[in-house]
Amino acid sequence: MQPMKLKTACKDYIWGGNRLRLEYGQQSDADRIAESWMLSAHPDGPSVIENGDYKGLTLQEYLQKAGKSVLGTDCARFPDFPVLIKLIDAKDKLSIQVHPDDAYAREHGGGFGKTEMWYILDCEPGAGLYYGFDHEISKEEFARRINDGTLEEVLHRAEVHPGDMFFIKAGTLHAIGAGILLAEVQQNSNLTYRIYDYGRLGKDGKPRELHIEQAKDVTQLKPADCPVGPQGSREEKNGYSRILLASCPIFTVYDMEVKEAELNADEKSFHSLICLDGKADLLKEGNPVLSMKKGESVFVPAGYGSYTVKGNCRLLHTTV
Ligand code: ZN
Repeated sequence: MQPMKLKTACKDYIWGGNRLRLEYGQQSDADRIAESWMLSAHPDGPSVIENGDYKGLTLQEYLQKAGKSVLGTDCARFPDFPVLIKLIDAKDKLSIQVHPDDAYAREHGGGFGKTEMWYILDCEPGAGLYYGFDHEISKEEFARRINDGTLEEVLHRAEVHPGDMFFIKAGTLHAIGAGILLAEVQQNSNLTYRIYDYGRLGKDGKPRELHIEQAKDVTQLKPADCPVGPQGSREEKNGYSRILLASCPIFTVYDMEVKEAELNADEKSFHSLICLDGKADLLKEGNPVLSMKKGESVFVPAGYGSYTVKGNCRLLHTTV
């Protein structure tokens, strides 16, 4: 059993920029990189293992070979890999969208709903995002404003700053604005209902598909009631400090500033380490196992036990 470095999957959606390539070392042949899927067992963009006995396998194939115990006992209640983690570079704004909850997703075509968390890494001054409504509106008003293109008038716009955390429960309308680079931790689903796309055209020259009927079913037409954070304050530990960004039944996420950290991947959950800045080595009992730098992603199997991260780095640390 050993930690694995993951090759990430890039997406060139129309609103993306080039910062993930230039600053985070992501590789793609496309003109732009909108999203880099850093930890994914989703068939739309699987992570591929880069080292060790399972080199060349996707994360999903690895799970089939190694067995679900590498996810940990706290993941046993999920039929599939529970989370999906992305870096997102929104040069332009994203469509206004909503995700269903698990119950609605099951009833309508299967799969899972989606609860997600955004962690703002960088942004242009004055950049903002939409997050729920300014005030409660009726279904009729929602439908009318989608039709006449005035929905934005009743949305809640939050200005963002590096270090802000937004927790987006299923059913909360949302849209990332232009000029924002963020990390997204979400339930493993790609089920998105697009409500409004500012009249833009997709790569094929046609408007991208909208999902108005489903959105009307699942959208909570009122101000968002989810936590904006981070949820914790910075804790000083021996050799590192950390701040709790979000904790929910699906994921627990910390931002860690590390010089030398003793961590323990016990039987309960795997660890996902995503290097947001700097570089570090991962060691087991003093022996180097692998090194990581900004933009790289490492999966540590549950039950690997204690290990050390040593260097000068900032990590997004996620467990289930
Ligand atoms: Zn979303």
